[in-house]
Amino acid sequence: MKRIRLAITGVVQGVGFRPAVYRLATEMGLNGYVLNNSRGVVIEVEGGTAEGFADTLLKSLPPLAVVNTLSTETLPPIGHTTFEIRLSEKADGAFALVAPDIATCGDCVAETLDPADRRHKYPFTNCVNCGPRYSIVQGVPYDRPLTTMRSFAMCPSCKAEYDDPADRRFHAQPTACPACGPKIAYIENGRLPEGEPVMLAVQALKAGKVVAIKGLGGFHLGCDASNREAVRRLRERKRKNQKPFALMARDIDTVKRYCEVSPAEEALLSGTVRPIVLLKSTPYSKGRIADDVAPGGSRLGFMLPYTPLHHLLFHGHDHFDALVMTSGNLSEEPIVIDNDEALDRLSVFADSFLLHDRDIYMRVDDSVARVVRDAPRLMRRARGYVPEPIDMGFDMPDILACGGELKNTFCVTKGRYAIQSQHIGDLTSGEALDFYAETLKNLKRTFSAEPKVVAHDMHPDYLSARFAKDYAAEHGGLTLVPVQHHHAHIAACMAENGFDGKVIGVAFDGTGYGTDGGIWGSEFLIADYRGFERMAHINYIPLPGGDAAVREPWRIAVSLLVMAYGKEASEILTKVKGEAYREKEVGVILRMMERGINSPPSCGMGRLFDGVSALLGLREVITYEGEAAIALEMAAEGVIIPPTPYPYTLVGENPVVIDTRPTIRAVVDDIIKGRPKGGIAARFHSTVADMVFRVCGMARERTSIGTVALSGGVFQNALLFTSVEAGLMERGFRTLSHSRVPCNDGCVSLGQAAVAAALWRDKC
Ligand code: ZN
Ligand code: ZN
Ligand code: FE
Repeated sequence: MKRIRLAITGVVQGVGFRPAVYRLATEMGLNGYVLNNSRGVVIEVEGGTAEGFADTLLKSLPPLAVVNTLSTETLPPIGHTTFEIRLSEKADGAFALVAPDIATCGDCVAETLDPADRRHKYPFTNCVNCGPRYSIVQGVPYDRPLTTMRSFAMCPSCKAEYDDPADRRFHAQPTACPACGPKIAYIENGRLPEGEPVMLAVQALKAGKVVAIKGLGGFHLGCDASNREAVRRLRERKRKNQKPFALMARDIDTVKRYCEVSPAEEALLSGTVRPIVLLKSTPYSKGRIADDVAPGGSRLGFMLPYTPLHHLLFHGHDHFDALVMTSGNLSEEPIVIDNDEALDRLSVFADSFLLHDRDIYMRVDDSVARVVRDAPRLMRRARGYVPEPIDMGFDMPDILACGGELKNTFCVTKGRYAIQSQHIGDLTSGEALDFYAETLKNLKRTFSAEPKVVAHDMHPDYLSARFAKDYAAEHGGLTLVPVQHHHAHIAACMAENGFDGKVIGVAFDGTGYGTDGGIWGSEFLIADYRGFERMAHINYIPLPGGDAAVREPWRIAVSLLVMAYGKEASEILTKVKGEAYREKEVGVILRMMERGINSPPSCGMGRLFDGVSALLGLREVITYEGEAAIALEMAAEGVIIPPTPYPYTLVGENPVVIDTRPTIRAVVDDIIKGRPKGGIAARFHSTVADMVFRVCGMARERTSIGTVALSGGVFQNALLFTSVEAGLMERGFRTLSHSRVPCNDGCVSLGQAAVAAALWRDKC
């Protein structure tokens, strides 16, 4: 007889771990117990086969479980007579990892659609393998009383399943059924019409209405994607922003008709996370998906149903193949989660509402990803990914890293883990700041984190940086660690790849505050976690009108001409854009630049892409971040033979300045000669890639560093990223890139945490 105690940490709660342990122990004839505590799971097994238990368990883990550590201890036998699941215990100061929300599993979909099942048409069917987690969890250990399911008492049938170790719903915390669980309601014109709510919603959608639909982490605005009139109205109500709407398709075969889908993309679409995946449309989609879904012919973002309610919306009819399912919010504001809030704030968008009474505790948007070089690349990390931690490999004090400004996330560390928040959005409005504070409060409680160190961006005006300073002061003067923006980008890329050493960091983005107070954004850094040296960047470009130039890239185009041609700029502008191009406005900004008024110089690589896009006439004014650069990438996409780069020169040392004036002159020559835009766009891409190869080559010669970390929102450009990464590997570099967190500013908080942790480790 042996008695062995196992302590297991990792993602082991809310994933069917205890039932699996129970079944295995019973099968092996062992007695003892299993329980959740706030560190993870503790198991005690006693009996003849106790020694083999840990190995067997590791070989038969439930599909969603991740074991990070497992320790065993042999104890004197005490004669357990049964194997039982004990009530959870809470150990102070410790924490366990909460699972992300999980798309409805095949078994639960089948039950929901089975007329003979007691959960037929029940929109909240779930089990240990699927359903809400992060969005309903209010604390650890993960048990029903600490979720928003607390208010629903289980009926005898559900309780029997919950208590039956052989059942798929054994200790499934959010389990429910039509008799005892949450309910849905359909509201139109402030009234509850007669009928089945889902069918009423389907009829409204079919009739071209916009329906606000409460989901897992917030509201969607839904309408029939093939109905031009409906989509146009939704687009108008969304203030004419041209950002593509997300789509939800009935099933994977439908997606395959509308878009090209590779095996990696199919796996991502139909896995347990179910993010929005950006895909290339097929000719079939033309006319069948309304043009206003993705104006300007950009990619289509598809996702598959991930709750039983979604499955029910598509089931039993063929009225629509795909729904627009865009976030229920004003652009870049937090997604709406409360019924009252929805009825109030979404009534400007929606004709009717499909609501339910299970509260959402953590608002969490759909994640957005794209497959590039066979790996998922996240653009927005939220539902299904959060709060999956990054293992930093060593114990840290509790750190709060406050993130950047656009596409903000923050990061909290606990033990050896960095836990990043979901996508918060642009931290420029009061609503976004409230969402930020609310999520921080929730994450701190869920992970029992009490930050002692606060890391932040160096930009004095970022709300996140001000928040950091206020937070540190309010909590008795915590240690503040300012981290340069692009250093944070590179550190994030290293951290998610578990790399600790020196790298050549290439951080290309739109803007980031430099250590000299300037606007940086085309940074070649020799970096490790502790610090960096700025090795190279492109020449500075004045941005006439500051932020206005970001929204109106034609201003950057004019600035590029002034930079490249000096006094002849006006003459060249006429050749490129024709007579009297934006005559009055151009006159104003020329004078502005001449006098150096309101024309902050920027070396953001994103701005160079914007300017070239505008020179080519692809996008002269944008309605969402990155629009002009996306148009440039799409223009270049059809070009098959990799073109030779345009000229540019490298000037000076420490840092080297990449002079892009020859590039601009060559681009302009091609435009004037009437060369195809696609070819010019492709050649521009290969020029930027060539800059990376040359500068990284120089850096390797000087420092012997052979690893390059690629970060920054510009690398969301798949064409650029692919040629840069492939080209670096051909030249013998090891490359590090993002796939677990976004390369855009969504990664900044992770990098700040990594830098703060390294500095803290040095002090100890
Ligand atoms: Zn299930
Ligand atoms: Zn029930
Ligand atoms: Fe950035």
